[in-house]
Amino acid sequence: MKMDMNVIKHHLTDALLMGYSAGTLPEAFNLVVATHISLCDECRAQMHTFDALGGEVMEMSEIAALSPDSLMVTLALIRQDSADAVPICKPAPSNGIFPAPLRDYAGGDLDAVKWRKIGGGVSQAILKTDKGASARLLRIPAGTAVPGHGHRGTELTLVLQGAFYDEADRFGKGDIEVANEDMVHTPIAEEGMDCICLAATDAPLRFSALIPRIAQPFLRI
Ligand code: ZN
Ligand code: ZN
Repeated sequence: MKMDMNVIKHHLTDALLMGYSAGTLPEAFNLVVATHISLCDECRAQMHTFDALGGEVMEMSEIAALSPDSLMVTLALIRQDSADAVPICKPAPSNGIFPAPLRDYAGGDLDAVKWRKIGGGVSQAILKTDKGASARLLRIPAGTAVPGHGHRGTELTLVLQGAFYDEADRFGKGDIEVANEDMVHTPIAEEGMDCICLAATDAPLRFSALIPRIAQPFLRI
């Protein structure tokens, strides 16, 4: 059964899928990747390709004892004891908006989330993950903008409900935006429905306006 009529247009990068497969991403990124994959047939298929490739490399390395500083061998070894792996499960049952990997972190579905206001009507809930990157749920009221900001690292934003616009692009349910250092943006939630997102960052965001910048250490974003 197709879970949604919604067509996903914005996908994970190969680098993220490979990192997930090799077990080299921080836990917060693993969570976003696993949640997107549980919603997206295309990325799930691509990830299985990388998984198969990684498995082959591991077998080869056992038989042929490849050079120990080969990148692929290193990845294969890291892969063996990846502590932060987030298991991918089948899509969520129809009575919720959080796919299984996310429900485990949120302690349930949307109604279990303890929101905290972070200004401008936007609320967030920080999810507990290992150091190196942080993950949070964001609720942006319909028609509201998130304060404009740049990024010191990589920011992944996955839409779970509603949609947001970033310049000309629309990000609907299941879509993922990958923002990096050279990107400054002001995402705006679409009218009609609050936008719920899962976001992960591997470095503090750089807010353009003074007040959000002062509040940043307290908000832990
Ligand atoms: Zn995808
Ligand atoms: Zn951003």
